[in-house]
Amino acid sequence: MTPPRTTLPGDAAPPAGMIACHDCDLLLVRPAHTARLCCPRCEARLDSGSRHSPEASLALVVAGLIVLCIANLYPVVGLDANGVRSATTLVGCATTLMHQDMTLIGLLVLFTAIAVPTFELCTQLYLLLPLNLGYRPPGFALLMRLIRTVHPWGMVEVFLLGTLVALVKLAHLARVEPGIGLWSFFALILLMAANASRFDPVLLWERYAACRPLR
Ligand SMILES: [Zn+2]
Repeated sequence: MTPPRTTLPGDAAPPAGMIACHDCDLLLVRPAHTARLCCPRCEARLDSGSRHSPEASLALVVAGLIVLCIANLYPVVGLDANGVRSATTLVGCATTLMHQDMTLIGLLVLFTAIAVPTFELCTQLYLLLPLNLGYRPPGFALLMRLIRTVHPWGMVEVFLLGTLVALVKLAHLARVEPGIGLWSFFALILLMAANASRFDPVLLWERYAACRPLR
């Protein structure tokens, strides 16, 4: 006799009335009421939906986009060496790298510190705004997959760590002035970390199922 299945193959969705543990894939019967639900096998908490609402995610995404704009419009750092002042934005850093025969590094900075965070935040805005208004955004499944694929390539924090090391080393040669862009990138890291910790695909799919198609 074949034993009953307790885990899901690949990315298969759990059957109706069931919930899959996001840590160990154990299938559980979904309780009728929203009481605290923990996985009996790995003790992961499974009722995150009561705390992580799409409304809060939308607020974090909008705040993240505003901060991202400020971070890219204002200088990251300013230098004052013997009266000669210079300041540059993140895009300026990347284009300077490309002009100094470091095209690959420049493109990598543009991709990981600007393109990926911008794509991630814009896509989440595109998905969350209609869902909060009760409509299904077209291309929902494809974009949910793309967000998961692209997310590991967002490396704003790595860029900032490198910037801080460079600033400490440059402090002996010139007067270093951290710009509004640098502080904005710090705020962006906090907002994106808070957003990533709240991003719950299961909750979004449930909201998607409850919404009506966009005509
Ligand atoms: Zn589990």
